Amino acid sequence: MNRAMRKRLQRLAESKGPAIRRDSPQNELVDTLYQRQHARTLEILQLPEEPALKALRLCHSVHEASEQAWALGKDLHQPKIDCRSGCSWCCHVPVRAHILDAIGAAAPVLSTPLDYSLPSRRREDLVGIFQPCPLLVDGQCSIYPQRPVVCRAYQSRDESICRVRFDRQDPSISIPMSMELYGLTGMPQLATLSILGELGIDCRPVVLGLAIQALQQDFEGMVADWLDGGRSFDEVTVV
Ligand code: SF4
Repeated sequence: MNRAMRKRLQRLAESKGPAIRRDSPQNELVDTLYQRQHARTLEILQLPEEPALKALRLCHSVHEASEQAWALGKDLHQPKIDCRSGCSWCCHVPVRAHILDAIGAAAPVLSTPLDYSLPSRRREDLVGIFQPCPLLVDGQCSIYPQRPVVCRAYQSRDESICRVRFDRQDPSISIPMSMELYGLTGMPQLATLSILGELGIDCRPVVLGLAIQALQQDFEGMVADWLDGGRSFDEVTVV
């Protein structure tokens, strides 16, 4: 992190941080999740560690907080969820994820070359592509504990609709998600992204498979440049 970023980080760490609304259990839960991850992110960014280690620690903290948020949301809203181990209809799309997610997903597969290419990185083209995620192996996610937040938050209430969507390769069919659970699961990541954004760290979405391929070439260099405000992910962002 350069000097200007470190100064901004210092100012953020000294500021009051986000408030918690207490007008409803839902608002209080959302704000508490956000506030906790906000504080945790600042704490991790200030650790005197190598950039790659710091980014992985940050990624794991987001994932851990997302898991807790998911469990709290499930208790609070009791949604019907059809997702189960071995069901992978929603893994047949080019996953758009955050750079931090790509770093976490790349770490366990750095020496396993991925066979993956896409005809386009344009947002409007990606929605019409139905090809398996390169991390899907024998119908299972090969990096399940490190899967991106979006994969954790995507919870279908009806598997049959996911199957029809895939069979017809029709992106206009919406997966019936539990939106409450989706929002809560993603909340910790929003807190982390708000800080990264304020520091000027690249927060653009990337195509997961392409970002992992790039990270396999130079993991430490790309991560260090990214945390320093560089644009090392330019070639793999969603455009
Ligand atoms: S990362 Fe794992 S859960 Fe996410 S789409 Fe790929 S295989 Fe599925």
